[in-house]
Amino acid sequence: MPIHEKSLIRPEDLQTHDKLVIDGVDVSGHWSTFIQNRAITDYNEKMEDEIAALPGGEQIHRCWQCGSCTNSCTVNAINPDFNPRYWIYLARLGLESELVRDKDIIWQCVSCHKCTYSCPRDVVPEGVMKAMAQWLELKGHTPVSPSHHFDQEFTDQVVATGKIEEGRVIRGFFRRTGQPLAQDWLVEMMRRIAEKLPFLFAIKMAFATVFRPRTRGWGRVQVALSDYIAARRARERQALGLPPASADH
Ligand code: SF4
Ligand code: SF4
Repeated sequence: MPIHEKSLIRPEDLQTHDKLVIDGVDVSGHWSTFIQNRAITDYNEKMEDEIAALPGGEQIHRCWQCGSCTNSCTVNAINPDFNPRYWIYLARLGLESELVRDKDIIWQCVSCHKCTYSCPRDVVPEGVMKAMAQWLELKGHTPVSPSHHFDQEFTDQVVATGKIEEGRVIRGFFRRTGQPLAQDWLVEMMRRIAEKLPFLFAIKMAFATVFRPRTRGWGRVQVALSDYIAARRARERQALGLPPASADH
């Protein structure tokens, strides 16, 4: 399906003539708007499969370009350049360089899932947005996002102990993203929580902070989870034509 929306045509690809007369008809200015001819030579024929190999992108092939996702999108209502339908179109055609031009806004999806509920084809556009953001990271087009760092810290803690301890997740997230632990908003939040927290609960929290909680008999689950995650990541990297990840990835 060709692109018809003028808003999606880059301004540099539009051409008008201040003064143009064709066969005696004055078509100056707006009336002589043309789209520049261009030859696209950088197709990535595997791009749809690459996105489909990442979590959330599995159903990208089902899209029939109705636009319901974009029409219902929370972020699109604020920023018209945020356009899931268009990005799915680019990915399915393999227009990699076109998608990369929007790399700085694709990650802005807020996971509200309005698109998911409005999609008539069960594409799960929210998942596709996540897959695209991960694809951009894995291909080296964008740095690892803070939300990915958070997910990684969360996952690592679940795998390690079978439990989540919020304070430890926050500390790990700050360490990964190079942020100081003593942030004004955090100190203020902790102060307010401390004021309202029942004494017994505060003791439990302090205990969990010092002694890492762990699910009993977690060892075998941990091995199975670790194996699954490693196999999954290896498959994803292979699908994207990337070398195997180093042990610390
Ligand atoms: S989940 Fe993301 S893409 Fe879908 S409507 Fe919400 S912000 Fe838009
Ligand atoms: S709503 Fe679904 S089918 Fe329609 S454009 Fe979006 S992803 Fe494609």
